[in-house]
This record gives sequence, structure tokens and C-alpha cells, in this order.
Amino acid sequence: MAFKHPNWLLPAIIVGTLLGIAAGWFFGPQMLVIDWIVGTLFLNALKMIVIPLVLFSLILGVTALGSIKEVGSTGIRTLIYFLATTSLSVGLGLILVNWLQPGVGITLQTGLSAPATGPLSWKHLFLSFVPANIVKAMAEMDVLPVIIFSLLFGISLLALGERGKPLVKIFELLNDTIIQLVHFVLCFAPIGVFALVAAKLGESGGGPAIWMELKKIGGYAATVLLGLSLHGLVALPLILFLFARRNPFVYLYRMSEAMLTAFSTASSSATLPVTMDCVETKNNVSNRSAGFVLPLGATVNMDGTALYEAVAAIFIAQTYGIEMTLTQQLIIFLTATLASIGAPGIPQAGLVTMVLVLKAVGLPLEGIALILTVDWLLDRFRTMINVWGDAVGAAVVERYLPHLQSSK
Ligand code: ASP
Repeated sequence: MAFKHPNWLLPAIIVGTLLGIAAGWFFGPQMLVIDWIVGTLFLNALKMIVIPLVLFSLILGVTALGSIKEVGSTGIRTLIYFLATTSLSVGLGLILVNWLQPGVGITLQTGLSAPATGPLSWKHLFLSFVPANIVKAMAEMDVLPVIIFSLLFGISLLALGERGKPLVKIFELLNDTIIQLVHFVLCFAPIGVFALVAAKLGESGGGPAIWMELKKIGGYAATVLLGLSLHGLVALPLILFLFARRNPFVYLYRMSEAMLTAFSTASSSATLPVTMDCVETKNNVSNRSAGFVLPLGATVNMDGTALYEAVAAIFIAQTYGIEMTLTQQLIIFLTATLASIGAPGIPQAGLVTMVLVLKAVGLPLEGIALILTVDWLLDRFRTMINVWGDAVGAAVVERYLPHLQSSK
């Protein structure tokens, strides 16, 4: 008997999310008690699946492409999609923040200090791509090095040709087993998302406290949310329709479970099992495309994060009364794109890599403290857009690999 999606799952997750918002809003910190019982347990169960899922699905995704040449051209198509959509969203963010100017007229509190983010540099980021120790990378849930390892492993397996086929069969079985595990864990999603959302809202002090924080820098939050909405509800659906010939409403509806999981976990990586399931099982995108694009996208392709980093950097400049020249805006454009690529798919990673953007144009790092209070909330929305961008990418890339369309 295979675990299948029960029909009640989606409505139950929606109810769970709404009840979680209501409970966290009204009962505030009291909701923290339920966090460890089910919230953390559910989150851990998702995280537990991520590394094997990335490993198996990427190795399989690469071998399914059939030849090293095909891996190269699929890789290039995928990267073109990632870079094009990320640049689009950063551009959108820059236009909105320059136009709406949410930071102008905001008086800075004195005594702000930069949050501790640890050592971070482009060199450090670049070197972290290739793991010296793959077991350590896996143990620390460092997804990017695991991706690199899986890609290289898959390519090497392909190079073995016929002799490698039995191992490919084993990876197919392992992958199917993991997908069954995802279905099983998903049965606990309604109660899991309820607990995660309620506890997070509760931790932030409940409704009135959140409202106060939001009001203080409401213009900034509204600009980020407007940008994310335009990108997620207009740009990406158009791309999906034009380049993948898919109905965006149906496609988005079938992604609902992944969207709500992204909202409740604020982590693209933790959501990956659900994203893969929605894209493959519900939206019928072939495993060859989804298995390749989605694990990569969960860490590399973050449209929402890139948009938010650009808006936040200019917002900080505006509050300090620093005029950003066109060249500086261009630098922000480039660094926000790169910083989103370097950000791991975990909660508030974007806030950390934003240090690189601010440093690149010489903005004060203390400015981050200004946006810190609402970041946990905006993080949830940008994670949803990150996941949505990956899902659209899987359909677009599939369409441009004609010989893949019939394979499932
Ligand atoms: N939480 C985001 C994600 O996992 C990353 C970020 O923007 O902080 O996609």
C-alpha cells in the first residue's frame, strides 16, 4: 500500500495555518508551549528528509538526462532561468523602492548596533561551495556543497555508461522511498504548520506587539510585500504561461501545500520535500526536470530574497539620508543577486548575506537593526516567492527539453 495524498490534506493545512495565525495573534507568548511538541517535531521531520532528497533526486536528475552534454545544456538553461528571474525581481524591487521612497523621513533611533553575523566575505562564500568533507557538509545540513557533490557524482555515474545502470536503478528506488516518506510526513502538516505559525507569532509578542512594529516601518514592509506580490502574482505567472504553456492558476493552486509550508517554516530547504511532491505528483512535471531544477533552486534561486535585499539596502540608505548614485544602484543590483544565490534556504539567511550588499556600497551595517524586528515576518513571504520561482522554473526548463516531455 503506497502512501497517497489524502483529499483532506490541503483544506486541513489551510485551516491549520489560519488557526495558527489566530492563536498566535490573540494568545501571544502563551503559544510557545506548543512549539516543541509538534512544531519542532514536524520541522525536524522535514529537515531529516532534505539531505537524502537532494542527494538522490539530483543524482537521478543528472543520470536521467542521458549524457554529459545534455547535463551541460540543461544546466545552462536552468542557470539562465535563475539569473533572468532573479534579475527581474531585483529590478522590480529597485524601481519600487526608488519610487515609493519608504525610508525618507524616518528618524533613526540612536544606539542601534549591528547584529552579529559572523565572518562573511565573497571569498568565504565562494570557497564554501566545494566541501572538503562531504559527511560534515551533510551533517551540518550545508546544502550547497551537497548539491555540488551530487552533481559531480551523477556526472561520474553517467560516465560509467551501461556499467552504471544497476546503481541508477538503486537510486531510483531510494528516491521513490523518500517520496513515500514525504507523503507520510505530510499527513502531520496541518498540525505542524498550526504549531509553527502560532509559536512564531506568539514569540513576537502576539497581535498588538506585531502591529506596533509593523507600523513603525510599515512603508518598508509594504514596499517589500508589493514587490513580492507583483513578482509572484504577475511576472512569474506570465513567464509560466508564455514559456511553459501552463495555466498559472491551476499550477499555483496545486502548489498550495508547498506555499503554506514555506510560509510556516520560512525555509526553502525544509520545504523542498513538499515542493518536489507538488511539482511532480500534482503538477506532473517530469522527475528529470524537477529532480534537477528544484534541489538546485532551493538554495541558488531566490527571487524573493534578492528583491528584499535590494529594497532593504536602498531603504537603509534613505533613512540615513544617503543618496545612492546610479553606479551604486547597479552595484546593489549585482550584489543582491549574488547574495541571494549565496544565501542558504534557511530562516532569515537573507538578512545575513545582506551584510555583503551593504558593505559593497559602504552603507552602515547598523542599518540592519532597523529592519530586524519585522524580518521574521517578511522572511515568510519571500520564502513563498523563492519556492514559487523554483516551481515555475521546473516547468519552464522541462518545456525547453522537448525529448523530456513524454518521460515521467
Ligand atoms: N528564508 C529564505 C528561504 O529559505 C531565505 C531568506 O531570504 O532568508 O528561502
